[in-house]
Amino acid sequence: MRAAMIGAAAALLLAGGTSVLAQGGPDYSQIEIKTTKVGGSLFVLEGIGGNMGGNISVLAGPDGAFMVDAAFAPLSAKILAAVKAVQPDGRIRFLVNTHLHGDHTGGNENMARAGATLLSRESLRRRLATPGPTASGQPGTPAPAAALAVLTYDAPVTVHVNGDDVQLIPVPNAHTDGDTMIYFPSVHALAVGDFYRSTGYPNIDRSNGGTMDGMLAGFEAIARVGGPDLTIIPGHGPLVGKAQVAAHRAMMMAVRDKVAALIEAGKTQEEVVAAKPTAEFDAKVPGATPQSADRFVAQVYQELKK
Ligand SMILES: [Zn+2]
Repeated sequence: MRAAMIGAAAALLLAGGTSVLAQGGPDYSQIEIKTTKVGGSLFVLEGIGGNMGGNISVLAGPDGAFMVDAAFAPLSAKILAAVKAVQPDGRIRFLVNTHLHGDHTGGNENMARAGATLLSRESLRRRLATPGPTASGQPGTPAPAAALAVLTYDAPVTVHVNGDDVQLIPVPNAHTDGDTMIYFPSVHALAVGDFYRSTGYPNIDRSNGGTMDGMLAGFEAIARVGGPDLTIIPGHGPLVGKAQVAAHRAMMMAVRDKVAALIEAGKTQEEVVAAKPTAEFDAKVPGATPQSADRFVAQVYQELKK
């Protein structure tokens, strides 16, 4: 295992994040945080009445809460209140990010200021600190120093906290190149972030190092964790078991094979998307939309074509 690296939490970088929030994005005031007990002292927080961002997991206990992901920053006060309901001293000891997207890391800075020590993959920290250009070509806004992990890793790490041996398991080049899944052995639960989601088609973020092959390998890695009774906490959508992940994997492989055959027949990306290679699954994938199907097909095309 590579040595963990300590990043200095130095002076604040540009305070760009706050000005973006002040420009009035979505209305978060209507969102309520719903807390569900997974088992033991592990809870899942999700947003009701609007898009809170990704699911949050909280392992409560005497060492202070161990938290997975932080959703969008404007919800931090509500999230901290929800944590306090299951962790009466309100202490957040650790926060690990499943991947870099803002609906999972937006609240990082606020959680760090509330006392959390941040953990993440090395590439996640680097991409937050030095983001690439936006889709419109503008330079990306670096995250403030407080939003960056203090401890980074690229090999499995175990955190002994609240009576559990929580395992941080890197998932190479899946949804992004900085994915981690988090296993809670004491409650047979696994938080996976967005490389597996139980709502909608997969999203392979190729611009941040994601790959279809990495996602498929990740689904196989989920199958090897724990026993048949494993509870899987997706990045988005309700809790599932291994059977749903296996079905998702089979769907992805079937779509891959259809896209491969169309490429073999000389079809362009536009023609492949128009051929609707997901059609047989559109009614079976919960939360599937035509937009997410087309995006997924285009991503699969681009990976197979290269
Ligand atoms: Zn994501």
